[in-house]
Amino acid sequence: MVVSEAERQTLIDMVEDVAGPEVKKVAILLFNEKEEVTDEMIADQLDVKLDEVRKALYKLLDLEIASFRKVRDKQTGWFIYFWKLEPEKITSVVIKKQRAVHFKILERLQYERENMFFHCSSKDCFRKTFQEAMELDFECDKCFLPLVDFDNSTIITILEKKAEEVQNLIDKQLERVKSLR
Ligand SMILES: [Zn+2]
Repeated sequence: MVVSEAERQTLIDMVEDVAGPEVKKVAILLFNEKEEVTDEMIADQLDVKLDEVRKALYKLLDLEIASFRKVRDKQTGWFIYFWKLEPEKITSVVIKKQRAVHFKILERLQYERENMFFHCSSKDCFRKTFQEAMELDFECDKCFLPLVDFDNSTIITILEKKAEEVQNLIDKQLERVKSLR
């Protein structure tokens, strides 16, 4: 995939948004490498701990933005992992991932809005839905204190805000995709 400097920057920004700033350096390095590289080569070049490089690589792998090939070293018998970036996948993978996150938040929001909750006010006990509380005769099954109304409006507000944030991020990515064309 041949990309211009501006496109490269856009793709790296997308990776940063979805995977966090700590993977940015690794993503840039992978982007610039024409050949596959090992985790040790990356750690050397960036002067970053091998553990951190591996964490970043697995995050990219998890997002399907990077892939590896493993080869057994004939001398040591250990596997060597050769990594490369999948730049043509970045835009679709990033947007898909954010949509999935958005969907999960909306699902949770619906659950919070549609249910009434009850709680015993003990820190270590979980809240119950109306159905669960009714089955327990409104007495906590753990600490035996009465189960009273639990106000989830703060949770709802936080989820609404989060959903909006993710939606904004998706809109931003869609704008970027447009700019790539
Ligand atoms: Zn309790």
